[in-house]
Amino acid sequence: MKANTHNLEKKGVNDRFSLSNDQFKLIDINNKPFIKVPNLGLVRMREKLRHTGKILSAKIFKQGGKWFVSVAVELQNIIKPQPKTDKQVGIDLGITDLATLSNGEKIQAPKPLKNKLKQLRRLNKSLSKKQKGSKNREKAKTKLSRLHFKISNIRKDFLHKLTTSLVKSYDVICLENLNVKGMVKNKKLSRAINDLGFYEFKRQLIYKANQWGKTVKELDRFYPSSKTCHNCNYKLDNLLLSMRNWQCPNCHITHDRDINASINILNHATKVLTT
Ligand SMILES: [Zn+2]
Repeated sequence: MKANTHNLEKKGVNDRFSLSNDQFKLIDINNKPFIKVPNLGLVRMREKLRHTGKILSAKIFKQGGKWFVSVAVELQNIIKPQPKTDKQVGIDLGITDLATLSNGEKIQAPKPLKNKLKQLRRLNKSLSKKQKGSKNREKAKTKLSRLHFKISNIRKDFLHKLTTSLVKSYDVICLENLNVKGMVKNKKLSRAINDLGFYEFKRQLIYKANQWGKTVKELDRFYPSSKTCHNCNYKLDNLLLSMRNWQCPNCHITHDRDINASINILNHATKVLTT
């Protein structure tokens, strides 16, 4: 939730503070949401509270030059089971396509996110060249923190839509083990895992599946999902990252690398992550 920042900024308060529920009030004026904070008075909020329930506390903080308030609400009846679909899916996470599903569907990371990540790398480089303590360095730092903020918003928004649609469409969602994936593969891949928000993806999937009565499973150890033929279980000794397609020397089926991997993930994920 975004708060109107100006009043807060003028008072020169700290970047971050907490309020207990007797220290603030949420008020609607002409159907617009405001928060009443001691010493500051009324501050307009960008949107209304998304949840109803007992208000516990609030945190007010500054990020990317903007002020935010996050309100903790005690929820009741959070279990809202979704209708069962009797469908299962395996998901291979990657760089070329953000997610490849075992039904062949490929999901790309949003273009604005990819562009902003490129921008981020350029900005990081230029910051490292600026003299410490210089005004230009300060300017570049502000730019960088704004960009980080934009990226995290685009990513969260995209991932929320994706995880909601997956949990609605499937009863069981199978993933690879991200810890293993990041560890065994190269540095470039580990960075991509962070950039694209794979951990956030997994976190959202698990909490939504818990709320909606669905199941998330993962491979409980390293399984060579890319280089094992899902049809006959033949395992290649080696499969270069650049090889997007391969033919099984044993059963002669031609595989799309990521679709084959996602089918293996679906067939071999056994560790249940949901409660
Ligand atoms: Zn085969």
